Amino acid sequence: MNGPNWHGLRMTRQRRAILESLRRLESHPTGDEVYRAARRRLPHISLGTVYRNLELLSGRGIIRKLDVAGSQRRFDAKLETHDHIRCLACGRLDDVTLKPRISDAGISRQLPGYQVLGHHLEVVGLCPECRTKRRTPYKDTLARPGNAAAA
Ligand SMILES: [Zn+2]
Ligand SMILES: [Zn+2]
Repeated sequence: MNGPNWHGLRMTRQRRAILESLRRLESHPTGDEVYRAARRRLPHISLGTVYRNLELLSGRGIIRKLDVAGSQRRFDAKLETHDHIRCLACGRLDDVTLKPRISDAGISRQLPGYQVLGHHLEVVGLCPECRTKRRTPYKDTLARPGNAAAA
């Protein structure tokens, strides 16, 4: 990744700081969190530079951009196929690898007319910590169950 033409991009000091910060944070950080971490490496880096580069890097497939329901956009340095589990109480997002995994081809067969390019599953629930603390789930209304008696 140090070549002069790395994914068609120049590997600048700023990009390296952003990428290394993201890779170190395994929490699927928001742009603001990447910014705070990158600033420890490059104190003068700006929030705009961090956001611009996160967009650029995800546009080139070097990192993943996650649209997580009910929260700010987050970023993921892990490119291998994987899914996520999101805690409804605290928002924590962890990696999961569910088996068997549904193949893109299997999905394609069920969606005639679409060109399926990939998929990503989000499991929702309570993380072990929130479960122990019995924190109130359903931070976002989208996930609120229609039937309260079922809870
Ligand atoms: Zn939690
Ligand atoms: Zn992930």
